[in-house]
Amino acid sequence: MIQKRIVGIIGTGNVGVAAAYAIFLRGLASEIILIDKNSKRAEGEAMDLMHGQAFFESITVRSGTYRDLAAAQMVIITAGVAQRSGETRLDLLNRNAAVFNEIIDQLDRYSPKSVLVIASNPVDILTYVTQKISQRNPRRVIGTGTMLDTGRFRALLGAYYGVDPRSVHAYILGEHGDTEVPVWSAANIGGVSLVDNVVSGKPFQPEEMKRLFEQVRDAAYEIIDRKGYTNTAIGMAIVRLVEAVLEDQKSVLPVSRMLTKEYELTDVCLSVPSVIGINGLEDAVLPPLNDSEFTALHHSAQTLKNSIKGIRI
Ligand code: NAD
Repeated sequence: MIQKRIVGIIGTGNVGVAAAYAIFLRGLASEIILIDKNSKRAEGEAMDLMHGQAFFESITVRSGTYRDLAAAQMVIITAGVAQRSGETRLDLLNRNAAVFNEIIDQLDRYSPKSVLVIASNPVDILTYVTQKISQRNPRRVIGTGTMLDTGRFRALLGAYYGVDPRSVHAYILGEHGDTEVPVWSAANIGGVSLVDNVVSGKPFQPEEMKRLFEQVRDAAYEIIDRKGYTNTAIGMAIVRLVEAVLEDQKSVLPVSRMLTKEYELTDVCLSVPSVIGINGLEDAVLPPLNDSEFTALHHSAQTLKNSIKGIRI
């Protein structure tokens, strides 16, 4: 019997809908189940997407409840609460952790074997919270982490060097946020290191590359300033993960995971390149870091650990 591919999405706001839309267009699932605290919104989004059936592959999209996720192979969590005026970052963190407590409890009850993808922010901390409260195999909890930042990095480097971004091999690791780390020492195009060589007629120019990285790091602020939120590229990053899991691709992607001595770090979730397949996370594939990258990654980890300290889990 052919197994149906079922993907659940919790939170059908800007990001959840962008992910659902991209999964639909790529024909990656046979059924998408949308769940939102605002059930009318989930219903409306499901109806709207269903009407695309006449134009692309026939995928069922419906709104549902956690009980409907029993047969789901994957569940994407994009639910989040926005900052209230006057609220501290820690208060917001605690409210988001409370939302996650509620969601993970339901998912552990009704969908204990599915691979969870966490996209809600702060993604590294919510991935950590999920790892702490969920009873499922830790390999089945993946944070989108720096997938988006790495995508932005490769896109900008591709434009700068005039090559297809898919031929640019470069990672942003660490926190998805202000302390993220560009791994210049391993960045290459077609196996040719960017730091040591003239590539496409361009030598490595540290000041220019620093500016390029700053554009990556600050992209969310710039986009939010213009359109109010970011959603389409993260939707595509989520789809890349869905594809890697459902098709058991063993792709190496920079995702947030609980570290167990990788780069001498433990008890923190941040992004390192990891093999992703049908059961979720497999081994990490760690590029060697130079001293300043190693120090920057430890600073990123410490920043996350400081935030975690104040949370009620
Ligand atoms: P949004 O406000 O448009 O949508 C959030 C949705 O979550 C709402 O529909 C809300 O009703 C729902 N929700 C809240 N609590 C819920 C609960 N307990 N159960 C079910 N649904 C619940 O927000 P958005 O723009 O879609 O962003 C969603 C999250 O994704 C935010 O945390 C945002 O910061 C994050 N994000 C992450 C990345 C990334 O790279 N990881 C990129 C962009 C946005």
